Amino acid sequence: MIDYSFPLYRPPAEADNIIIQATYGCSHNRCTFCSMYKTKKYQMRDIKDIYREIDILAKHYPDANKVFLGDGNALSLPTKVLTDLLHCLRQSFPKLSRVSVYATAQNLLEKTEQELNSLRDNGLSLIYFGIETGNDVLLKKINKGVTSKQMIEALYKASNANIKISVTVILGLGGEVYSNEHIRDTAIIINATRINYLSTLQLGLEEGVKERFYQHFDEFTMSDDVQILKEQKQLLHLLNPVNKVIFRSNHASNALHLSGTLTKDTERLIGELETALIIGERAFVPSWFRGF
Ligand code: SF4
Repeated sequence: MIDYSFPLYRPPAEADNIIIQATYGCSHNRCTFCSMYKTKKYQMRDIKDIYREIDILAKHYPDANKVFLGDGNALSLPTKVLTDLLHCLRQSFPKLSRVSVYATAQNLLEKTEQELNSLRDNGLSLIYFGIETGNDVLLKKINKGVTSKQMIEALYKASNANIKISVTVILGLGGEVYSNEHIRDTAIIINATRINYLSTLQLGLEEGVKERFYQHFDEFTMSDDVQILKEQKQLLHLLNPVNKVIFRSNHASNALHLSGTLTKDTERLIGELETALIIGERAFVPSWFRGF
């Protein structure tokens, strides 16, 4: 029905929702740990093709209420294009209650407050944003292209526009050497901003990116599951977000699945982590069952 360009990625929370590729690939595409769009050249799609797909999807799923705009960072599109697209979605799906995109800090910083407000008013309600780490040394090593200060500024722009924010953090990203700084500075970003959802993933490097990732470190020792869960525990200890944050650690990469609301459930989550650490491997999701 829809001629998707593969590989096609979407956040786990969008599994049952309409997916429309507004762009192909990622406009940054330089993060050293990420292999998602390495086989794709970033491009805006022909708007007529997108409208044609919306038309087809609306006929098949007239009651759909949530749409995710792919690929890697549809917020990279010019505001006018996105606004027209949002308008078309509203016309096509009468029950539409949520439109979401992946967004980078660069995308948010490039847009004015008025542009973000206008996108919100036209229906853009949620962005998925990869913090990965709040540590500036690591941000440089992974080639994220922004500093922690810029990330905070970008996240503020989104929350000021009343756009909900779902962030990801990658446990193990600093290996053994940078573990403490990674967690400490990541907690600073989360506590300093007004995010709504937090997911923690575990670092996994596919063959195609390993060499480039390691090149930026003098030495890098991958953390094992026990070290990762200790990072998770340290992070939860340090988190004191301004508003209610829905926390999930249920990605395919995670050794232990956790979920709760911060800070209401922090104590329980730390308790679950401590129990798993005492039991050891038997309490973890088997490695053959996991992916990245
Ligand atoms: S911005 Fe996101 S999709 Fe793009 S390269 Fe970095 S991690 Fe991958």
